Amino acid sequence: MCTSPSRSRAESALTATTPGLVCAHHHLYSALARGMPAPPRSPQNFRDILDLVWWRLDVALDLDTIYWSAKLGALEALEAGTTAIIDHHESPNAIEGSLDVIAQACREVGVRVDCAYGVTDRHGHEAALRGLAENERFIRSGGRGRVGVHAAFTCTDETLEAAAGLAADLGSGVHIHVAEGVDDVAAGQRLESLATDDWLIVHAVHLDRDLPGTIAHNPRSNMNNGVGYANPTARQNRTVLGSDGIGANMLAEFQFAYFRHREADVEATPDSAWGWLEAGRGLFPEATSDTIEWSYDTMEPWHLAFSTGVRPLNITVDGEQVLSDGVATKVDADEVRAKAAEAATRLHRSIEELGS
Ligand SMILES: [Zn+2]
Repeated sequence: MCTSPSRSRAESALTATTPGLVCAHHHLYSALARGMPAPPRSPQNFRDILDLVWWRLDVALDLDTIYWSAKLGALEALEAGTTAIIDHHESPNAIEGSLDVIAQACREVGVRVDCAYGVTDRHGHEAALRGLAENERFIRSGGRGRVGVHAAFTCTDETLEAAAGLAADLGSGVHIHVAEGVDDVAAGQRLESLATDDWLIVHAVHLDRDLPGTIAHNPRSNMNNGVGYANPTARQNRTVLGSDGIGANMLAEFQFAYFRHREADVEATPDSAWGWLEAGRGLFPEATSDTIEWSYDTMEPWHLAFSTGVRPLNITVDGEQVLSDGVATKVDADEVRAKAAEAATRLHRSIEELGS
């Protein structure tokens, strides 16, 4: 049985309401990565981080661990006031049906999700085709999603063209990492003839030219991976904020975006980062109708850049109350955490068994 955190007298008098927040680039499958076995050696660069951490994790995922990752990730998003997630998923040994599992877990918590399967040729062309098929199957069956591509540097031109063509047929746009690290500097040239305004271009740290589409900026992840600063103000594209799998606390991500911007330009104001956060609703308009009652009374950029611990008290999504006094209403948060911890133990054992 959950116990409700009691509101202080100050909190009950000082609340404000906003629409739902949007995490415009997430990897819900990373929710169970915390505590995973250490890499066999210390990563030296971004490519090592992919090889030694994320690409050991994704091959170990099965539909059960995907489900509990997504359910825990959705719960943590909700508890932070994020009612809509644009997710990018990869699980090469559990491709078929993976997007349905993610959508189901989010629906059960009461969080909106837009799914993509990240197509790649890392596991051969046949696996890339299966990834494309999963995107197509999910979207054609009525799922909310985009055609996912991992990144140009792990795909052949044939796969990139197939993904762009499928997205055009479906009218969905493509959700793709672009020039996150120096390994992907050729992405601009390779994608130039394919990208369209409905693409979601993730990172663009080392993008050497302009591409059409919306740029998802993930400041905390970029800092964690040491890949450099994307400097979104230097581009004309609409910019939105994502977490890149480090939870979905978008007020925290806004603060990282502001402080990283400020570090690069001491005249920067938090209005830029706040604008990127709010622009996420342009990609997920349904979040506009969600309501978040916060534990703070002035939900404005200059306040929130310097206010830590602001949290949602009550949330409605699609007219349904999904958080009450800080506690999820549709699921038992304690049970989700306990089941997710069991799934994490299984996942970490699988990673060890698969070796490096
Ligand atoms: Zn990502």
